[in-house]
Amino acid sequence: MVVTGFIHHKPSLNKLIALVLSMGSLGVGYAYSVFAHTRELDILTWNTMLRGFVNSNMPRRALQSYTEMLEQSRNVPDRFTFPSLLKGCALSLEFKVGKILHGQVVKYMLHSDLYIETTLLNMYAACGDLRSARLLFERMGHRNKVVWTSMISGYTKNHCPNEALLLYEKMEEDGFSPDEVTMATLVSACAELKDLGVGMKLHSHIREMDMKICAVLGSALVNMYAKCGDLKTARQVFDHLSDKDVYAWSALIFGYVKNNRSTEALQLFREMAEGSNMRPNEVTILAVISACAQLGDLETGRWVHDYITRTQQDHSVSLNNSLIDMFSKCGDIDAAKRIFDSMSYRDLISWNSMVNGLALHGLGREALAQFHLMQTTDLHPDEITFIGVLTACSHAGLVQEGKKLFYEIEALYGIRLKLEHYGCMVDLLCRAGLLAEAREFIRVMPLQPNGAIWGSMLGACRVYNNLELGEEAARCLLKLEPTNDGVYILLSNIYARRKMWNEVKKVRELMNEKGIQKTPGCSSVVIDNIAHSFLAGDCSHPETAEIFIMLRQVKEKLKLAGYVADTSEVLLNIDDNKKEESVSQHSEKLALCYGLLKSKIGGRIVILKNLRVCSDCHTLIKLVSKIYQRQITLRDRNRFHHFKDGSCSCRDYW
Ligand SMILES: [Zn+2]
Ligand SMILES: [Zn+2]
Repeated sequence: MVVTGFIHHKPSLNKLIALVLSMGSLGVGYAYSVFAHTRELDILTWNTMLRGFVNSNMPRRALQSYTEMLEQSRNVPDRFTFPSLLKGCALSLEFKVGKILHGQVVKYMLHSDLYIETTLLNMYAACGDLRSARLLFERMGHRNKVVWTSMISGYTKNHCPNEALLLYEKMEEDGFSPDEVTMATLVSACAELKDLGVGMKLHSHIREMDMKICAVLGSALVNMYAKCGDLKTARQVFDHLSDKDVYAWSALIFGYVKNNRSTEALQLFREMAEGSNMRPNEVTILAVISACAQLGDLETGRWVHDYITRTQQDHSVSLNNSLIDMFSKCGDIDAAKRIFDSMSYRDLISWNSMVNGLALHGLGREALAQFHLMQTTDLHPDEITFIGVLTACSHAGLVQEGKKLFYEIEALYGIRLKLEHYGCMVDLLCRAGLLAEAREFIRVMPLQPNGAIWGSMLGACRVYNNLELGEEAARCLLKLEPTNDGVYILLSNIYARRKMWNEVKKVRELMNEKGIQKTPGCSSVVIDNIAHSFLAGDCSHPETAEIFIMLRQVKEKLKLAGYVADTSEVLLNIDDNKKEESVSQHSEKLALCYGLLKSKIGGRIVILKNLRVCSDCHTLIKLVSKIYQRQITLRDRNRFHHFKDGSCSCRDYW
């Protein structure tokens, strides 16, 4: 074209530029060089170029070129110039530029052009100025379906779902019927409101209109049902979608996780990753990682980690942070540490997750070392950092360090002390057996103690066998949490240990009177990606016979090693044989035996328990870790216990 001189033929030139631009960002560079070498460009060429920049996601280049056009050429913008520019402003959130452009639209007398008005409205809505968008909307002489949908969508995207639904009513009054895009927007508004009733009405309206459910509308519906907690319908809609996009998969997976149905979330993710060509996005991955953390499912956690290492080019900081959290919650603190060490950029959450993870695993000194390392960066610790730091001191018995740090939080770091920090201090003192000091600390602290604080006190009184303070703590705790069954149990433990059977009976009667039931202890162990749960004395597992044979073998082996069942926490005044029988089938023992039977030899066994572990199970697991040469991790309600070579990371205090 240069040789033939066709390059000076405007219509051919425009066609060339449009063609090259359609080839994506590489084409843009080439088109621009053709464009820059052409003299006397007409408005058509400029418009083509501007549109090219915006469509190739280079909105700032478009705005820059527009300024050049006004300065260097005699061209006057026309009705095709502004839509691209306004779209560019919406993309790059250039609100001020958008307003200036609005002024120019008026100057060039183009303000009653419907297409320009719609893009103006979209620009205002995208930049969050709903008032201007609405004003424009009200002044528009003629509105079509697209305009209505734009305004409704503006409300939904700016988290004003009620306004979106109200405007939809008006839209129908005005005689416009919605299309898929309108409906997707409205369904999203219901998702945000968690209004299942209105959501279902919209859904049946969609059916009545016999509307085709496109991918966008489909994922909006799945998301709405999932957010409203109706996972059954969410699943039904999902299964019927002919066109499932990544948002539909993510919405359902996320829904399962939010509703504590992590097993199903992981199953669905496997289907997605292995059975479809769909690539999960970050929302999916984050949901899946938190499902693993919730279940304590280390095996799947590792698989997900492998999967994203294989498929994602780079790990974002938030992805790495959630991996750290997941690995530490699943009991593999070393893996958490490896992720942390491999990060080239770390934010405050990364450091906090690491410090807190180490603390929960009883690695107090390591947590403090991490904290000191953090201070060599330019990040400043926040209140969450100090919860980790104090927990670390508490779990590692570092009383002096803990006290010093506690007084530095306000004085040195200028962070306001919260109730959680006081709670950590009480816990620190209690664990160290300084019960009187802890009681005094509670008395003088400026905030009202909460249930957690009295809970620490009560737990410590059980360990240190302090009746008087224990009764007081239980009384205060029951005032705050009258239905907390754990309080009654701990108090009974204290009485039972002193053989005060009358008091044990009184507590039981009080529980009956108030209709409080003891939460059954439940432990689970994950084998080949399936969580197996057990209650105490549970015979419902298909392999019950093998489990009980294993349990007998374990007990015989342990007895030879000097194990005597610790029945001091049994709440009944019965003979010792019966007591032994009642502790010997605790849920964590059954889960442990199943783990010994099914996991590969030498592999780590991870058990999750919903309540605190009792002292007999704790002793037994310690011995098993030695005799069977197994590393066993138990996550109970409060913390992790890592059993190895006959001892536990909690140093027998929990
Ligand atoms: Zn037990
Ligand atoms: Zn322990």
